[in-house]
Amino acid sequence: MGQHRHADDPHVFVLSGRVDGADQLVPSGSPAAAAEQLSRWIRQDSAARISWVVNQAWQDWILLAARLRPARGLGESLRVTHLFTFEPGDQVGPRLLSQCGAEFSWWALEFGDELDTPLGAPCVACQLTVLPAQAETQKALPPSGADTDIDTWNGWDRYYQVLGWPVEEFDGRLMLVADSDNDDDVTVLSVPADLAEQVQTCLARTDMQAPLLQLPGLPAEALFVVARTSVPVTMPPGVHRVPVGIPLPPSTTAEGPARWITSPGDVQLGRSRDLDVLACIYRLSRPQQQELVS
Ligand SMILES: [Zn+2]
Repeated sequence: MGQHRHADDPHVFVLSGRVDGADQLVPSGSPAAAAEQLSRWIRQDSAARISWVVNQAWQDWILLAARLRPARGLGESLRVTHLFTFEPGDQVGPRLLSQCGAEFSWWALEFGDELDTPLGAPCVACQLTVLPAQAETQKALPPSGADTDIDTWNGWDRYYQVLGWPVEEFDGRLMLVADSDNDDDVTVLSVPADLAEQVQTCLARTDMQAPLLQLPGLPAEALFVVARTSVPVTMPPGVHRVPVGIPLPPSTTAEGPARWITSPGDVQLGRSRDLDVLACIYRLSRPQQQELVS
């Protein structure tokens, strides 16, 4: 990205308001500091009229990263970092629409200190929308002709027709639209790549291996595509549900093609559930002695 000027520039934002009857005008170079300043004004005067805009004189669009603030009952899996874009002169809030289409109030969000501060696990759908333009030329196309290798699971509609997965074409890519807020039958769990290998071995003991996906932009993570259960579970550290929009092979991202580590064609489909993956992770993280006793 890096298209914007240096994040230390103090004037990317202009905060203004009428607080306790006095007009305020404060420049800010930091999203986190801007949100903090506005919060201070509201605490000081609950009837304060406030405004947060991107400086009209700013030369380029900006990219903000933000995630939900920590809150009681809000699991880490819901705190993925979304991306928000703004043009010079745009209002930032009071409602912000993320690139993936989710809406947030600015006061519910945690921002970075600078424009490009990373904030933990990314929202994959948001990331894909801000890929560099050259990715647009690498369209994922439906397979053509009868010589398509049926074992590659690269077919445009096989995911939907054979597996029943919710898939959509989005910006030239074939996307699995598993959404943690909906009752889709499919969910995607992001697991640290080295752990994912052990989990797959664990699942194999009961013949429940799951399709496992690798995205080139997320080399440290592997994505299990599994059946979703409605049982609420606590996500182990480093594990989270991927909310929306995951590119499936043969789709290509700016960093390279999406790739099956374990293809849907190599497993018994529909057997493995999110619970089975999590059970393996908990089992693997137990101390060795307990493993022997049980
Ligand atoms: Zn998002």
